[in-house]
Amino acid sequence: MPTLKFAVLAGDYIGPEVMQEALRVLAHVARQENLQLDYQSADVGGAGIDNHGKALPDSTLRVCEQADAILFGSVGGPKWEKLPPKEQPERAALLPLRKHFTLFANIRPGLLYRELTDASPLKTDRIPDGIDIVCIRELTGGVYFGQPKTTTTLPDGDVQAIDTMVYRRSEVERILKVAIETARGRKGKLCSVDKANVLETSVLWRKTVTEYVARHAPELTLSHMYVDNAAMQLARDPNQFDVFVTENMFGDILSDEMAVICGSLGMLSSASLGAGKNSLGLPFGLYEPAGGTAPDIAGKGIANPCAQILSAALMLRFSFGLDGVAKRMEAAVKKAVTGGIRTGDIAFGRPSVGTKAMADAVIAAL
Ligand code: NAD
Repeated sequence: MPTLKFAVLAGDYIGPEVMQEALRVLAHVARQENLQLDYQSADVGGAGIDNHGKALPDSTLRVCEQADAILFGSVGGPKWEKLPPKEQPERAALLPLRKHFTLFANIRPGLLYRELTDASPLKTDRIPDGIDIVCIRELTGGVYFGQPKTTTTLPDGDVQAIDTMVYRRSEVERILKVAIETARGRKGKLCSVDKANVLETSVLWRKTVTEYVARHAPELTLSHMYVDNAAMQLARDPNQFDVFVTENMFGDILSDEMAVICGSLGMLSSASLGAGKNSLGLPFGLYEPAGGTAPDIAGKGIANPCAQILSAALMLRFSFGLDGVAKRMEAAVKKAVTGGIRTGDIAFGRPSVGTKAMADAVIAAL
C-alpha cells in the first residue's frame, strides 16, 4: 500500500479549522484509493511563537525534513502584530521554509467555476465560462533577495535605499521547466511576462525563455507580454492566458490580482515546489491556500475549507505522483461547490453552510 508521508503545519486562526477538514477529506480518499496516510503535525507561525518561542521551531523543521511534502495552513494575525517585522509569523516562518527547501516555483491556479461567475468583480459577460488559468511565479530570486539591499545616509544628509534585482539564466530555465510541464498538461499556451523594455534582468529572462522553449518545447504556443500590459489584460480578458510565467515581484502582484478576479480567496490553492526531490524521486513541495488566517471569521466554523482541500490535491499530484486522485478531488470540490450546497465563503456574499458541511459535501461527491 503506497504511503503518503507529509508534515501538517496548520498554523493560526482558521488554519487549524480548514486543515482538520482537509485531513478528513484526505482520509476518505485514502480509504477509497488504498493509500496509507502517514502525517505528523507541528506548530508554525503564531502557534510556534506561543509554544516554542519561534515562528519556525527547530522541531517543526525536523518534521518537515523527514517528510515528502508539507501541507501548510496559514499563519499570523492580530495576536502577533506588535512583534518586530522580522519576528512576524509570516516572515519568520514562511520565508525561512521557502529558503530552507529552495521552494523556487510557485504554482497558483486561478479558478472560478462558471456557476459562480457572479462572485468575480469582473463583468460576467467577460468571463461567461468562469476563469481557468495558472500563474507560475519564480519564488526565490529577483529583487526580494538580490544583494546589495541597504539603506544609507548620504554625505549630503539625504537617505538612500537600494534593492537589487538579480537573475541567472539557470534560475530562469529552472522555473521555465515547471511552466512548460504545466502548459503541456493544459492547452499548450505559455505567456512569459517581463519588463524587457526597461530591465536588464527581463532582457535575459526573455532571451532565455525564447531560446529554451524553441529548443525544448517547440510544440507550445509561446508569447511574451510586458508586466504592465499583463496587469491590464488580466482584468480585461483573463482567459486569453492559459499558463503565464513570471519573475518573483511581478508574480507576487499579478497572482494577487488573479485571486481577486477569481472572486474568492477561500477557493484558491497553491503549490511551491522545491529544487530537491523527495524520497519518491518527485519534487518536495509546500502546499497552502492562497488566503491568510482570516481572523475576522476564525472560530465561527464558517471558513471555506476548499482552498485547503485543493492544496492537498496539488500535493497528491506533484509530490506523490497521484494525478488521477488529485483530479478526482478537484472534481468533487467542483461538484460540491456548484451543486445544491453553496460554499460557506463570505466572499461569495452568500450565507455560510459551514466549514464541516462543506467538507461533508466534498466527501459525498468523491
Ligand atoms: P486573509 O486572506 O486572511 O483574509 C482576507 C478576507 O478573505 C477576509 O475577509 C477573510 O475572512 C476572507 N477569507 C480568507 N480565507 C477565507 C476562507 N478560507 N474562507 C472564507 N473567507 C476567507 O487576509 P488578511 O486579513 O489580510 O490577513 C490576515 C492574517 O493572515 C494576517 O496576519 C496576514 O499576515 C496573514 N496571512 C498569512 C498568509 C500565509 O500564511 N501564507 C497569507 C496571507 C495573509
